[in-house]
Amino acid sequence: MEQIKNYIGGELSGPISAAFLDNFEPATGMVYSQIADSDERDVKMAAEAAKAAFPSWSATSAEDRFAILMRLCHLIERDLDALAQAESRDNGKPVSLACAIDIPRAVANFRFYATAAIHLANESHDTVGRAAINYTLRHPLGVVGCISPWNLPLYLFTWKIAPAIAAGCTVVAKPSEVTPMTAFMLSKLCIEAGLPAGVLNIVHGLGPKVGSAIVEHSDIKAISFTGGTKTGEEIARTAAPRFKKLSLELGGKNPNIIFADCNYDEMLATTIRSSFSNQGEICLCGSRIFVERSLYERFKHDFVERTNALKVGDPRDDATDVGAIVSKQHFDKILSYIELAKEEGGTILTGGSVLEPPKSVGGEKLDGWFIEPTVIEGLPFDCRTNQEEIFGPVVTIMPFDTEDEVLAYANSVRYGLSATIWTENLSRAHRVAAKVEAGIVWINCWLLRDLRTPFGGVKDSGLGREGGFEALKFFTEEKNVCVKL
Ligand code: NAD
Repeated sequence: MEQIKNYIGGELSGPISAAFLDNFEPATGMVYSQIADSDERDVKMAAEAAKAAFPSWSATSAEDRFAILMRLCHLIERDLDALAQAESRDNGKPVSLACAIDIPRAVANFRFYATAAIHLANESHDTVGRAAINYTLRHPLGVVGCISPWNLPLYLFTWKIAPAIAAGCTVVAKPSEVTPMTAFMLSKLCIEAGLPAGVLNIVHGLGPKVGSAIVEHSDIKAISFTGGTKTGEEIARTAAPRFKKLSLELGGKNPNIIFADCNYDEMLATTIRSSFSNQGEICLCGSRIFVERSLYERFKHDFVERTNALKVGDPRDDATDVGAIVSKQHFDKILSYIELAKEEGGTILTGGSVLEPPKSVGGEKLDGWFIEPTVIEGLPFDCRTNQEEIFGPVVTIMPFDTEDEVLAYANSVRYGLSATIWTENLSRAHRVAAKVEAGIVWINCWLLRDLRTPFGGVKDSGLGREGGFEALKFFTEEKNVCVKL
């Protein structure tokens, strides 16, 4: 069985413990590969390799870093199909989605930061009256840690690594132990691209062993983390007294606010996507749908009908809309929330059950973890189902009468990652966008991203911003110099 090894000091190697963990395929529920079960000794080795590589990499010109990162882009593009299949096998998502979104975005991440780094300029300010000139020097921070989740494995992993490397840092990175395969494939491509040894080090294994060792390591100057809010709290507790730079991209419970004057057809098609894409396992999925009362019954009828038309099945099948849930543990968690919704008085309008094992493209039964896309109504805005992150193909729908009322519902949760607003009334769109508590607001669209714009949540959805020049700056140390004229 294939073994997923660490990438340390430019080489692929097994963990010091020599132990491996099982890696499951969500569609079949079967073990299909083994992951290095690393610990703090492997993290130490990786940090040493990164520290040794830092002086030379930080002194490499932005143009030379650009050339290497662009070679990596071309290699990812060359292997796009193989990477998409691997991502789907690890995660349960449709191959078509990995081909269209996940892997191209990994290329876009490297391309964006390779080019951004050659355009990054430092600011200078003339003091009033020309008494002095102030300028800001920005130097790469050193060794940094990047920790990512399982839902968009290569996409989110590279969104951290790309700016760190482009800024001149060296990296100790940990992908999720639930979906490690594409990060392993990336390590082979880094070797092929000629990335110098030690610039990127990838340590596989469990969060409490490998992740926490990265956060604790005294040579690691910054942590860029994406994952759950509870894990983010633990990381902040460890990193804060060590004065590490910290970027935390955490959970969400995003509102989708639909006014009666919206472009109905576009709203309906997009709301199906924003609810169930990637099995609802995108931090930006809208999981609480609020609909203006005059439109509510029409929306409910059509939304349920469109949900029923989604094809849940073999991730390898091009016709599949919704694949398998990423792990047995997560599958059980989602089902427990569906039970909770019933206990809280919710009515399941469609879904709510485990799907009979669908047939694979080869004809055999898939005994993995499939849940029907589920729509629930009749729950109060402040019940647990409507307050806690479920992170699966489960949405609630609820009517509202006024703008103030829907804003109170939308803002009632501890999270503030994203929000979507549907209306053709320009003033209302801007008014509600300004008042909704979210780091990103989409008006009449969803998941349109421009890599130049900052990304991140407010409230318990995170700290700091990813994306744009901000991410490059995050991985640098700033020094202000004032020269008297
Ligand atoms: P998770 O927090 O369980 O794990 C994320 C990563 O942290 C994994 O690599 C894991 O091994 C590691 N980890 C676990 N415990 C750790 C510890 N004590 N110290 C250091 N590292 C540790 O999250 P997950 O289940 O992989 O991902 C789902 C969550 O991620 C959801 O809450 C989702 O909303 C969130 N998410 C947020 C964004 C965003 O941009 N805000 C994007 C995607 C996912």
